Amino acid sequence: MIKATVLAVTAVFLTGSLGFGQVLQPPIPQATFRFRIQATSGNPSEVFAIARYLNKQGFDVSGYDVTVGQVEVVTGASGLSKIQELGLVGFLVTQELRPDSRYLNPDRLAEKLQGIQLTYPQITRIERIGTSNQGRPILALLVSGKAGHGRLMSKGRPSMIIDGLHHAREVMTPEVVIGMAETLLQGAQYSEGLQDVLNRWDFWFIPMLNPDGSQIVFTSNSMWRKNARSDERNSIHGVDVNRNYTFKWRACNGSSTSKWSETYSGAAAASEPETQALVQLAEKERPSVYLSYHSFSELVLYPYGCSGSFPAERLMVESLAKEVAAKLPRDSGGGSYIPGTPWQLLYDVDGDSMGHMSGTHGALAFTFEVNTEFQPPYELKAPTIAKHRGAFLHILHRADNNMLTIRVFDGATQAPLSARIQFDSIVPRNGELPFRTDVDGYFHKILMPGRYGVLIQTSDGRRAEKVIEMRGERQLLEISL
Ligand SMILES: [Zn+2]
Repeated sequence: MIKATVLAVTAVFLTGSLGFGQVLQPPIPQATFRFRIQATSGNPSEVFAIARYLNKQGFDVSGYDVTVGQVEVVTGASGLSKIQELGLVGFLVTQELRPDSRYLNPDRLAEKLQGIQLTYPQITRIERIGTSNQGRPILALLVSGKAGHGRLMSKGRPSMIIDGLHHAREVMTPEVVIGMAETLLQGAQYSEGLQDVLNRWDFWFIPMLNPDGSQIVFTSNSMWRKNARSDERNSIHGVDVNRNYTFKWRACNGSSTSKWSETYSGAAAASEPETQALVQLAEKERPSVYLSYHSFSELVLYPYGCSGSFPAERLMVESLAKEVAAKLPRDSGGGSYIPGTPWQLLYDVDGDSMGHMSGTHGALAFTFEVNTEFQPPYELKAPTIAKHRGAFLHILHRADNNMLTIRVFDGATQAPLSARIQFDSIVPRNGELPFRTDVDGYFHKILMPGRYGVLIQTSDGRRAEKVIEMRGERQLLEISL
């Protein structure tokens, strides 16, 4: 059913939007090589330094494997000579023309989601949250005790957004996102605790944000990263969807303005339909937690992407990232994932989704870099999902137990009020948007245990000041104004 819709939409797009006789050109096939630079010491800081250096030199740095001290780039023939000129030593990695066909492509993802929805009709719903450049649906799976009840009426519940495949070649990431959805769905069959969580939260799983890129990976270029944005002549150059978000777009040289770069930020902030789909979902859902799955390098990344910058809730974010990383053993079996910001562990990044969710919505936001290559043997799927299950449930447990829900309403009419909310100890220093209630007058915020002064102000000048004590259990603060 969904498959047929995709084909129909694509056909309309090809004949309707481009005009008669015009056909989209596939990306120009270029010789691409995976090259691994070998660090000389066993020190992770040397590996980070090499990755940062190669990124500054304009290389497409795919990731690294700290266990063996290797940094990988995807490059053409000229890049290989440049590596030689720079005096770096390493080796070429043989590369499959296509990823293992058992990994999810856009059609198989749609079928997979439909299967899940049929198995759990009361607590799941498939929503099309957007349409890609080439007309493919961007699909989300809503998992919620209220999912089977038609339109969600009053919010009043916190949301978590979990996504994968911003970058097309990262084929393990949709599998992990589906794996986390199934963790909740299967767990709720026997765990009263998880049933209770599903009745109080909304979970939005978007396994494949970039379906056009996925199609390129499975049909013509297994190392494709960006979306399928094309230029006037209809040849595809692509935009890096994870450099296209409005928060800190092009803020710190963490992206490129060249459309042929692998980190091209796009013609304007949120110019891409894939970016818009997630931005709009977040604007509606106001996520309290945001998890984004990427590959590779075995990292737990937290905001922000620009050098030297941290969110105002740095202590909470850092300590939770450490806890979560310790629960994620590396694929090699030696050591665990490494926690840190992108600028500490990789290089500067701007206009990314994690920064957007933290800076725009105050979400607790993490990016996971899974595995030690983009397209590992399919057999690694089960162990990857298994280890992330523990990390995911740990974050959920922490978030659920440290949630402050504020409801602001008119004392006379009971109508929800639109209000701004400030905490005395959370001081925005990086251009973050003020915390604000949603259309139903609610704001949900994860806070570390402690005392907080809270200031609530409506646009028509009503205000309240409260002091709350968070003690590791969820609280509801009702503000009647
Ligand atoms: Zn990525």
